[in-house]
Amino acid sequence: MDFRLTEEQELLVNSLKELCQREIPDSVIAELDEKHEYPHKQWQILADNGYTGLGIGEAYGGTPTDVMTQCLVADTLGKYAFPLSVIYGLGVICIKDIEDFGTEEQKQEVLGGIVRGDPPVALGISEPQAASDASGLKTTATFDGDDVIFNGQKIYCTISSIAKYILLMTRDPQIENPYKAMSMWLVPTNTPGIRINNLPKVGWWSVPTCEVFIENARVPKTALVGKMNNGWLQLMKNFEIERVVLAASVVGAAEAAFEDAARYANSRVQFGKPIGSYQLIQKKLVDMAIKVENMRNYYSKMAWRMDNKLPVRHEHAMSKLYIAQSAFEVTDDAMQVLGGMGYMMAARVQRLWRDVRVMRIGGGTDEIMYNIAGPQLLNLYK
Ligand SMILES: Cc1cc2nc3c(=O)[nH]c(=O)nc-3n(C[C@H](O)[C@H](O)[C@H](O)COP(=O)(O)OP(=O)(O)OC[C@H]3O[C@@H](n4cnc5c(N)ncnc54)[C@H](O)[C@@H]3O)c2cc1C
Repeated sequence: MDFRLTEEQELLVNSLKELCQREIPDSVIAELDEKHEYPHKQWQILADNGYTGLGIGEAYGGTPTDVMTQCLVADTLGKYAFPLSVIYGLGVICIKDIEDFGTEEQKQEVLGGIVRGDPPVALGISEPQAASDASGLKTTATFDGDDVIFNGQKIYCTISSIAKYILLMTRDPQIENPYKAMSMWLVPTNTPGIRINNLPKVGWWSVPTCEVFIENARVPKTALVGKMNNGWLQLMKNFEIERVVLAASVVGAAEAAFEDAARYANSRVQFGKPIGSYQLIQKKLVDMAIKVENMRNYYSKMAWRMDNKLPVRHEHAMSKLYIAQSAFEVTDDAMQVLGGMGYMMAARVQRLWRDVRVMRIGGGTDEIMYNIAGPQLLNLYK
């Protein structure tokens, strides 16, 4: 078993780390977070250095890459510039869907745009009555001549107030089987009839998550992505990649929290000694380091399986579950090691703690990951 990164991956990670430290220091990320500001300029820096085009075909100006490399980018950004890793990770599924199912025109417009620094496409699945159970979505698409008219509501549609497009999932109410009734559309966010509001939330302050009201929003029917009523299968094809790349982003964040805690343990003196000299604090730090190592190993194995076209279904759910829970445990323990200081807004740890928490909910909750993995595991032992 070879755990080494390739020379290209090593170079990529080091260059990205240096770029973040030089041009996107944590003070900038902290300020954006405090002001709830989207990192337009910082995303453009990534684009200018070729990072937003990683995973996009050369025909559109990008650089094709494997899942492992995308995870490494998310992990590195997660450590040094967390909001950018979220934006990068969210972009992965839409990029893959457009690349796999989009028309040439859609690819030129969207993929070329992301390479140049456009925000990724927002993903519009969840609705107020349907999120864990996406089969309950109700947004409709009705044809009128050469146009299609959308009606419905989306919720938690991240970056939709910033993005140029939403990858909108609709359902045909006439078809009984929901999984054969969904379609995928590339809809401009400035279409008349679309209204978007940012929702205040616990973390991800510089990455807006929104509610989207859609009332008689009319676009040409060329907005269809892939085949009519084939949207669910299209969505599922690339969901596993999105989950593993997004999970990699919180590994970097957890490592940053661990490092803050370790440094603090060396410098903070109580009862005449650094708190790091107490075994209870050492235990916490060792447990945190083990979790960071295990999380990284887990996503690496999933990425390796995907890159080698091996199935990952129950394993990817278990890895997402483990990483989401462990990343939160690590940031929570980091806050504990920092004591009162960890709970203060001046500490990076509080931001990481707020930011990684959502990984246990977004992209499929912990409980849904258990639901996916449990029956499949049991099947193996029938
Ligand atoms: C910050 C953020 C960003 C997001 N970004 C996007 C986005 O860009 N696009 C998008 O489409 N969606 C997005 N989501 C939505 C996200 O995918 C959903 O929040 C998630 O799938 C859970 O759905 P829900 O919130 O409606 O909870 P519910 O589905 O109502 O679940 C509530 C609770 O019940 C549990 N539960 C539900 N069903 C079962 C079951 N069968 N067995 C056991 N427990 C169950 C859940 O695990 C959860 O604990 C985002 C969410 C957040 C918080």
